[in-house]
Amino acid sequence: MVLYKRPRLLDFTKTPQYLQFNKYVLTGYRPVSTAPECLGSLFYMHNELGNIYTHGVPFFLFLVLLPFSIPWMEVDSVWIGVVHYLACLCPTVGSVVYHVFMNHVGGEHVYDTLLSLDMFGVCLVNTLGALPIIHITLLCYPTIRQTALLAYILLSAYSIYCATTAHTNILRLQAFLWQAVFRFSLFLFRVFGSGAGSPDSLRLFVIMDSLAVMGGLVNVIQIPERFIPGLFDNWGNSHQIMHIMVICSIIYLHWGTLEDLAWIKTYQCPTE
Ligand SMILES: [Zn+2]
Repeated sequence: MVLYKRPRLLDFTKTPQYLQFNKYVLTGYRPVSTAPECLGSLFYMHNELGNIYTHGVPFFLFLVLLPFSIPWMEVDSVWIGVVHYLACLCPTVGSVVYHVFMNHVGGEHVYDTLLSLDMFGVCLVNTLGALPIIHITLLCYPTIRQTALLAYILLSAYSIYCATTAHTNILRLQAFLWQAVFRFSLFLFRVFGSGAGSPDSLRLFVIMDSLAVMGGLVNVIQIPERFIPGLFDNWGNSHQIMHIMVICSIIYLHWGTLEDLAWIKTYQCPTE
């Protein structure tokens, strides 16, 4: 069933240069379109449809289902629950807007703005998602905890600046590096120091970061479409694989945070 009359789709060489970011995706490009036409593209097949729905469907599922799984009554500070909920939502929102409207008639300027929004969402999940982890890891050190939270927010502001102004995928990945190093040092403090937190959540957070890094790498090296250009134009290309890995990474963040919140209820900081 066709819900919307599909315009004539373009080949790679016929699409505007700023949309030619994957030379192994050969067909299925939407023509430059108005905002209503971009929205209409939700209802016919083209090479961005998979990208839109691999983040669009999880966004609605997270929006509706996550509030029911967060133990609001048991969280000692409500901000932890709110921040975690927003962290899980923000990367999919920016991504869906970017993929729906990237071929807008506004041209390259609109495209660059939307790409920055997409990157902003990814930075925000790293930023907001880590705040409960910092809070719990440094639970028994209130002064250090406040300083670490502030330092991470400042570091994240720098990462957001780098990610939203970068012009290559490599530079965008580098923008996330310092946030990752900070989180990794927290994990080390849990394992080898006196950081608090459930032993089980640490494993979940490591899987979370590994999935996100692997997703980013798959997107950069453009596998599998690199091997058979044209075969993965609509489904199964590297960007969609990255989207799915990002969703899995968010699910692990959620599981890890729930694990920590359950653990913290029975934990007492050692007295001097
Ligand atoms: Zn994307």
